[in-house]
Amino acid sequence: MDLKGKVIVVTGAGQGLGLTTSLALAAKGANLALVDLDEGHLANAVKLCEEAGATARSYKANVASEAEVEKLYADVVNDFGALDGTINNAGITRDGLLVKAKDGEVVKKMELKDWQAVIDVNLTGVFLCAREAASKMIELGKPGVIINISSISRAGNFGQTNYTAAKAGVAAMTVTWAKELARYNIRVAAIAPGFVNTPMVANMNAHALEKLQGGIPLKRLAEPDEIAMTAAFIFENDYFTGRVVEVDGGLRL
Ligand code: NAP
Repeated sequence: MDLKGKVIVVTGAGQGLGLTTSLALAAKGANLALVDLDEGHLANAVKLCEEAGATARSYKANVASEAEVEKLYADVVNDFGALDGTINNAGITRDGLLVKAKDGEVVKKMELKDWQAVIDVNLTGVFLCAREAASKMIELGKPGVIINISSISRAGNFGQTNYTAAKAGVAAMTVTWAKELARYNIRVAAIAPGFVNTPMVANMNAHALEKLQGGIPLKRLAEPDEIAMTAAFIFENDYFTGRVVEVDGGLRL
């Protein structure tokens, strides 16, 4: 797919990976529908994408809400008259151990609300956005591309029961949808980043982060544009579908 003039939805586009990826696609001539919860971040993202030459519009929507996601994709098609791609990037963390014990006594458990919050945004949100995007793409009768953001943590990671479950689910749904949607000329792929220099990682404990970087063969975090260029590759390579690209500096969890 040539990105020039294509309409791409990016969720979680207000900051971090979503913002950098939106800017990379804008630089390649795409037009952007930018989705986030924070209106201030969205206004800034629209301004930056327009400076990069794109037509950009902002949409405040919670990807975990079925009604809001249905309205979002209907609005995007109404506003732009097209929908060529979507990047299901919005995500959150609520890290914690399954159970924490001291002297044989369980002192803490992962709370159901922390499990549910991550599943709602990182798994259900991806399902809802992909479902609505695919529906619109089929109705528009043009080729489309769906990119889901998984994570290296999909293999299982200490302190991330909720996040690993969601990201493994995202990888599995990607393969399923690639099989189901190929007949409609829709390709589906995922990116599983390692640890990336974004606000999400900036919130990590500094000592833990330093230790983690030491274990990465390339000895550094990824920069967001190193993930963004992977998204551009997936859009541009028409033979790429049903696979998860790992961009992790060689780190295996
Ligand atoms: P980030 O800096 O925290 O940005 C995430 C964005 O998603 C924020 O703008 C946030 O908006 C938005 N968002 C959160 N919940 C939302 C919802 N329910 N509906 C709509 N938007 C929502 O995170 P990031 O590091 O860029 O991560 C982006 C994606 O990459 C996530 O899926 C993450 O799991 C994945 N990933 C990140 C890393 C990493 O090391 N950073 C590694 C592997 C995978 P608000 O700020 O307004 O809440």
